Amino acid sequence: MKELTLRPVAVIHTDFKEKFGIPRQSGRAPSAEGRIVFEPEFRVPEALRGIEGFSHLWLIFDFSQAHREGWSPTVRPPRLGGNTRVGVFASRSPFRPNPIGLSCVRLCRIEQTERGHELIVSGCDLLDGTPILDIKPYLPSADSHPEAAGGYADEHTSHRLSVADPEGLLSAIPDRKLPALLEALADDPRPSYQHDPERVYTMLYGGFDVSFTADGGTLTVTAVRAV
Ligand code: SAH
Repeated sequence: MKELTLRPVAVIHTDFKEKFGIPRQSGRAPSAEGRIVFEPEFRVPEALRGIEGFSHLWLIFDFSQAHREGWSPTVRPPRLGGNTRVGVFASRSPFRPNPIGLSCVRLCRIEQTERGHELIVSGCDLLDGTPILDIKPYLPSADSHPEAAGGYADEHTSHRLSVADPEGLLSAIPDRKLPALLEALADDPRPSYQHDPERVYTMLYGGFDVSFTADGGTLTVTAVRAV
């Protein structure tokens, strides 16, 4: 079959500067903002006409840091412990024949800047600098199915850690960046097959290295360093 070439329409900027620590699905960190900056060719105000009437958008994007030669018919979702394999088409894994991601985000506002109209969205699970291939409005009448079955993915949606910061280290994080960080930490960034309470993890968030350990249902912040 013919190959298809796609050109990104925009790039999204987020506080997630590396893959580790990004929430595993859109909406898991409702406060996690992203700023969508259109490529010069697409800085056309008419292309956004009517978008302000939609509270949520679908983002279709390039899993830019997950490009691989070839593909595997099965993947190991981290939430299944990292040992159980499911079909790639039964998963939301970044490692797929075409590395295309799909996220549902809230449209917070539209800002006019020297780079044209930018969309400020929240509930992001995207790496900073991710190329956006397309944007479509979320249609509650068509896209929402409250009775839908969520397969194996339903089993772990309630998994949350409580975040402890006994030394008050998180006071170094600017107020406006803190809620999303707390949500991302509570979502448990660890690979789910790792349960070593001594192990120190570090995620790069905003301009900070945030280090933590996790034991049982509690994640404890151990260091916060500006980078
Ligand atoms: N909501 C999307 C993404 C789910 S996978 C979908 O269902 O298609 C979520 C993971 O994608 C995150 O944990 C993050 O590690 C990864 N991710 C986000 N942006 C990425 C990028 N640009 N390249 C590679 N992986 C990315």
